[in-house]
Amino acid sequence: MQYFTSNFRLGILGGGQLGKMLLYETRKWDVYTKVLDQAADAPCRMSCNEFIQGDLLDYDTVVSFGQGLDVLTIEIENVNVEALKTLKKQGVKVFPEPEALEVIRNKSLQKNFYVKHGIPTSPFKTYESKEALLNDTIHFPCVWKSAEFGYDGKGVQILKSTEDLHALPDTSCLIEEKVDFDHELAVIVARNEQGDVTTYPVVQMDFHPTANQVEYVVCPAAIPEHLAKKAKEIALMVATQLQITGLLAVELFLDKEQNILVNEVAPRPHNSGHYSIEASYTNQFEQHLRAILGLPLGNTDSKAIGIMVNLVGAESYHGPVVYENINTVLAMKGVSVHIYGKTETRPFRKMGHVTVVDTDRASAYQKAKTVKESLIVKSHG
Ligand code: ADP
Repeated sequence: MQYFTSNFRLGILGGGQLGKMLLYETRKWDVYTKVLDQAADAPCRMSCNEFIQGDLLDYDTVVSFGQGLDVLTIEIENVNVEALKTLKKQGVKVFPEPEALEVIRNKSLQKNFYVKHGIPTSPFKTYESKEALLNDTIHFPCVWKSAEFGYDGKGVQILKSTEDLHALPDTSCLIEEKVDFDHELAVIVARNEQGDVTTYPVVQMDFHPTANQVEYVVCPAAIPEHLAKKAKEIALMVATQLQITGLLAVELFLDKEQNILVNEVAPRPHNSGHYSIEASYTNQFEQHLRAILGLPLGNTDSKAIGIMVNLVGAESYHGPVVYENINTVLAMKGVSVHIYGKTETRPFRKMGHVTVVDTDRASAYQKAKTVKESLIVKSHG
């Protein structure tokens, strides 16, 4: 186990909240860490051993950051993949593997991968440019996705008419059939270097109606056992075909005919797994470390029902952040508050999350609703 040696070095590309929560676990095991992020005040800065400020998309910056590391991982997909390939050739272990990351970070390549490997997904067509899209016959409603650089719903739009098409940015993209779904689900798969795999329970993600962002993540999802089993099987199939080392979060749709379709995947810890910090035997961040360090995978069972509430910036507030009524929430039983450490709030920016742990589902929901209604992320600036 190389990481127990005192000169072991783990690199993390990206210094946001996912990295910050991963660093709680590296601290627990005393793993030496080095983080690269563009922002001088990145949430990771305080808890890593070394912080380098720089552009994750710049080849030279990423290569020079990676020199001398034993293992390099990511907390965001928008990084320079060519640099990762170079580092891999030089002997740095890069997890997730650059080849898998290359497929995942481009939604068109990702969808083509599903078709090639017989993984169920909604019908789609890819386009190189806006012009190519405008020259085609499109059936409305449909879903437009930018092939690259989309996150948190920013590269996704539901199109209702030709007018909507004209308003789109000029970029390579895909058009998907709009899925009429009952639930959005997610399954986190962990796979270590030896190829051992395990899955977390299926969670359901309840979306905010206008922001296109997850409002609640509920574990376990309220779906029949046979559908949960199928969702896990599909998620495992994706992770195995991609040969991922680390975590793979698989987002799924459960449609009205009870078909399970893969929406998209993320090769890292994921918002849908935050509940695991308090509700699972092994949280997703420790599990990611176990997987990329070649250690035995931990128990993914839950200790109780978990509901995660995202704390996002309230609409129309920009500037220095204030967490209103945080005391009300801290006084609640079985409720844990996570603040990401971003100094400025913006509408719908992810600023933190709260996890409710309870043995009773209805009571967990009631508390989650109270959290949502009382704790408001504002700015007095
Ligand atoms: P992001 O990468 O920004 O998270 P997603 O591809 O997950 O983008 O899409 C964001 C949300 O948009 C999804 O969670 C879902 O609510 C909705 N969505 C995406 N694709 C479809 C689709 N084909 N049919 C219906 N809704 C969709």
